[in-house]
Amino acid sequence: MSKRGCTDHAHGCNMCHSIVALTAQASLHHLQDALLQQLKATTSAVHVSTFQVQQEQNKQEQNASARKQSLRLLPHHQPSGYDPHHDPHQLAHETPLQRAIQQHTIEHQHDHLHRYFMPVTRKQDRLDLWVLDYRDALTPEEQTRLNLLAEVYTHCDAHISMHRHDSLTGLQNRKALTEKITMLLKSRAQNRRRKRDQDHLPFLAIIDIDFFKRINDTFGHLYGDEVLLLLAGLMKQSFRDNDNLYRYGGEEFVALVDAATEETAMLALDRFRQCVDQYEFPQVGHISVSIGFVALQNDSLPTTLFDRADQALYYAKEHGRNQTCSYQRLKQAGLLADKELNVDSELFE
Ligand code: GH3
Ligand code: MG
Ligand code: MG
Repeated sequence: MSKRGCTDHAHGCNMCHSIVALTAQASLHHLQDALLQQLKATTSAVHVSTFQVQQEQNKQEQNASARKQSLRLLPHHQPSGYDPHHDPHQLAHETPLQRAIQQHTIEHQHDHLHRYFMPVTRKQDRLDLWVLDYRDALTPEEQTRLNLLAEVYTHCDAHISMHRHDSLTGLQNRKALTEKITMLLKSRAQNRRRKRDQDHLPFLAIIDIDFFKRINDTFGHLYGDEVLLLLAGLMKQSFRDNDNLYRYGGEEFVALVDAATEETAMLALDRFRQCVDQYEFPQVGHISVSIGFVALQNDSLPTTLFDRADQALYYAKEHGRNQTCSYQRLKQAGLLADKELNVDSELFE
């Protein structure tokens, strides 16, 4: 392939094969799989890994060493996604990586290999990072090919993302949520089979605006939409970067809260509930939300998990609204009637 592009299409060039492989993918997860395959198949790199970079918590921190500590690499392909030579925890503290994040591709010598950290921008505040080890330094042609592949990947990612976001609030949509939960449960099952079960699963929370219909009825649909938009903004402010936020539909939102314990999840969710409770919405004034949540468990079906979070939400609604309820706590306290038993008891009343 020449520097400006491929000239001989008789048998198709590697770049063309890569474009076909990447553009054929309909989900982010599959796109990332296809990318890794293409990087392995069409480059001469001996070790290849792809990550998402997260700079969390102290994003505004002026102090460089504090910024350094907040860097986190999330492998795209759990659990075998990164090459054993690319331990994310070690990489996160390598100085060239810090430089690559702030600038552009950085090369440095590592164990007699040429290691390239290649930052690939996906969104304004989000980065992907490709880590590639080569026996020889990259030629300008190879570097150009990698850059083109990064561009194709970024475009495919943008197209897929467009279909996974809610146009009003900019949060992820229901389709994205279903994919995420399926992926989390699948990778957890694989981790368990491989006895690498160190990561916890997030908590699934359904957040529902209280008496939202009244807002529409009193102020009109446009004000209702404005409330949804502002609420999404409050969610982004209140939750952490590694929590995933969705508009599930209508006036219902979902948060996948990354917490090690139920208490921590409760704290994060109730902090958000209080934040809404204290916020003065223009014209509309005070509103509140009710929240029901459950721990994701890999032995449960996604529908079962939603049903449990929904039971906790229903309990919150039935007991005064403007509160956060945990399915596990309600269940342990015997406050949730067994639904099947309920049906039976109604039949026999
Ligand atoms: P509850 O406290 O029990 O949740 O009461 P609620 O009024 O919030 O719930 P209900 O399900 O009765 O009403 C939800 C309303 O949300 C009805 C529907 O018109 C409104 N809604 C759904 N999607 C949108 C939207 O995109 N924009 C606006 N403005 N309203 C919406
Ligand atoms: Mg609702
Ligand atoms: Mg509601």
